[in-house]
Amino acid sequence: MSPLPAAAIAAILSDEYGLEGTASRLPGENENYLITTRQGARFVLKLATEGGGGDVLDLERMAAEAIATSGVGIAVSRIMPTRRGLLEAQCDPPGDGALRARVFEFVPGIPWGEADPATPQRRAQVGRCVARIAYALAPVAHGASRRTHQWDLTAVTAQRDKISLVAPERRHLVDQALALYVASARPYLDALPHSVIHGDLNDENVLVSGDRVSGLLDFGDCLYNPTVCDLAIALTYLVFDEPDPLEAAAEIVAAYHGIRPLSVPEVEMLFPLIVGRLANSVLIAAARRRIDPDRTSWFVTEPRAWRALERLLAIDPVTAAATLATGTRLKIGAGQPAPRALLLERRRQHFSDALSLTYREPVRFVRGRAQFLFDDRGWPYLDLYNNVCHVGHCHPRVVAAGQRQMARLNTNTRYLYDELLEYAARLCATLPEPLACCFFVNSGSEANELALRLARTHTGHSDVLVLENAYHGHTSTLIDISPYKFMGKGGAGHAKPWVHVVPMPDGYRGPHKGTERAAGIAYGDEVGRVIAAADRPVAAFIAESLPSCGGQIVPPEGYFATAFRHVREAGGLCILDEVQVGFGRAGSHFWAFELQQVVPDIVVLGKPMGNGHPIGAVVTTRAIANSFAAAGMEFFSTFGGNPVSCAIGMAVLDVLRDESLQQHALDVGTFLRDGLRDLMSRHPLIGDVRGTGLFIGIELVRDRDTREPATAEAATLINALRSRRMLVGTDGPFENVIKIKGPLVVTEDDAAMFIATVDDLLTRME
Ligand code: PMP
Repeated sequence: MSPLPAAAIAAILSDEYGLEGTASRLPGENENYLITTRQGARFVLKLATEGGGGDVLDLERMAAEAIATSGVGIAVSRIMPTRRGLLEAQCDPPGDGALRARVFEFVPGIPWGEADPATPQRRAQVGRCVARIAYALAPVAHGASRRTHQWDLTAVTAQRDKISLVAPERRHLVDQALALYVASARPYLDALPHSVIHGDLNDENVLVSGDRVSGLLDFGDCLYNPTVCDLAIALTYLVFDEPDPLEAAAEIVAAYHGIRPLSVPEVEMLFPLIVGRLANSVLIAAARRRIDPDRTSWFVTEPRAWRALERLLAIDPVTAAATLATGTRLKIGAGQPAPRALLLERRRQHFSDALSLTYREPVRFVRGRAQFLFDDRGWPYLDLYNNVCHVGHCHPRVVAAGQRQMARLNTNTRYLYDELLEYAARLCATLPEPLACCFFVNSGSEANELALRLARTHTGHSDVLVLENAYHGHTSTLIDISPYKFMGKGGAGHAKPWVHVVPMPDGYRGPHKGTERAAGIAYGDEVGRVIAAADRPVAAFIAESLPSCGGQIVPPEGYFATAFRHVREAGGLCILDEVQVGFGRAGSHFWAFELQQVVPDIVVLGKPMGNGHPIGAVVTTRAIANSFAAAGMEFFSTFGGNPVSCAIGMAVLDVLRDESLQQHALDVGTFLRDGLRDLMSRHPLIGDVRGTGLFIGIELVRDRDTREPATAEAATLINALRSRRMLVGTDGPFENVIKIKGPLVVTEDDAAMFIATVDDLLTRME
């Protein structure tokens, strides 16, 4: 709204409040006027076009009253009722739309932001004040406080969609701030002590007089929130311009702690909350610029907020928390970062170099939660890569199920116990008939080994058909059926005589490229061709339902139906390896093979099954299981199917169901793929974006016509993403496919951040 003419102000004051005086407009965000009556009494008139309504005004009144009467020792702006006893006057001045007017007692003092630089005394006093305000507001109970608004520090992510209004070169700061907030503050806020808070203890609303904090303005943002949010907001603004903002903040924190002792989680939350508030502030400023770029009062803090964001994000969260806690004596770990060289040396002492490390600059992780892994400096990394922690790192329900069962019973499958029977029944219920007979083991490799034994025993043959570039595990036999290994570094360079390699059904390259059914059938017929050329009958055809190591391939429709027909006609069995891609990742279906309307004879499960706990399984038909039993040899895996593993496996199924993660994978995966495809118009390096659900590949090429693989560029991109704290990998025969296959709990916001980051990094690389 625009400033109101003096006559209109005078009319409001006399009609509604019986006041007469002069009015001068006050600086700041809002339309506020200082009213001085002839007797020298001072008031503040606040005008607004819209507002929170009667209940919220009553909440504001109650909060101000609570502080005024609590002995905090600072003046607050209390409201003056209208002549009719109301908290606001509705007016309709000529020429303007309807307005709401409120009059407050004038509070003397200079805004913190305009006063002389703060002394340690003043910082300590404001710390004590904020703590006392928390006590004063604690008894305030008001229905209207259970609200949210655009400055609500528990709902910062609601502002994320404004990021497109931020200058592109600055968006990554907002993204980093939001990622830290989302990973390190948001999930823990609900568990903190809550109360009504002021909600906007900024450098305009905190007034000082000399070295003293003298007053407090504007209760318009008060709401029920974690109590510590008031401290975080005060810290955000009151140390903006300090040479060392965190040390200055630490003085405030120490004084606060002396009055209202903080818990360790509250202190640890401060830094993520501060950067979250700064992100909130710059996002709202960006949106307001669209509404009225000339309203300078809206943008007074914006440049400072950006500067603060830049400075604070250069500090790691562990150091920040330790600095903020300096005066509290709380135990908050800091210490020096473990020197990478030393860690690498220790690794070298006890391990072989065959055990490789990811990234040019390896990361040291200390904990995980949901879609984030945290390094030793407290930075969250968005995990778009690990497909083992399927329902989120350290999912509390999975952890609890394992802990409970470990404390109750752990034994083996030679005894009867309910967990085994129940888990097998539940697992088989997800699979089509006739897949109903389970063998539990401890890893994908063990499961594939067993699958081969089953196929060989059942068919009496030993030869195996495998896809180009496939990987099925690390045992001797599995290396032999993994071209990824035997054709790769250190491999024999050729297949064993009993192994027959068939072309990868790659829709983007290869002899039958194309995504239509004809391509699927042509690739499927290649299997028939290889069978015909082999001099011995085959026991099995084995493939991943969605070849992952092969380069995040989605076989064209009709591929498996055609291939299976050839294999079965030749007397072989069809094994599908769902170790990487099962359990809802495909989005549209629980099992990736369902995408192709086929049913394998044997399905192999692993990785996501136990969310990180080592479980694998083979599920097959009764007939195949009977042949295996008839051969006479007992099957036993010491750990396979133990009650703890079964309890954990069931918890994973529970979480998948209760959190609708398959549907979530479909929604977020589609959003992510669409966003990445949009980037293709700007970035010629992206040759193809493919996938289903949260199984996604981005194939980088130097030339879209020749499809020359951009291998070095892919390595550069994943290392650059690592430095932006996002984890993905590369794969495919040319190592030029960016693999996305993270936990299913990745959100649309995470996906948006990833898309924006890839866009930014490719722009820089090109
Ligand atoms: N099959 C596939 C498709 C895999 O990706 C892997 C592991 N990367 C395995 C089997 C072997 O599983 P594990 O490492 O649990 O033995």
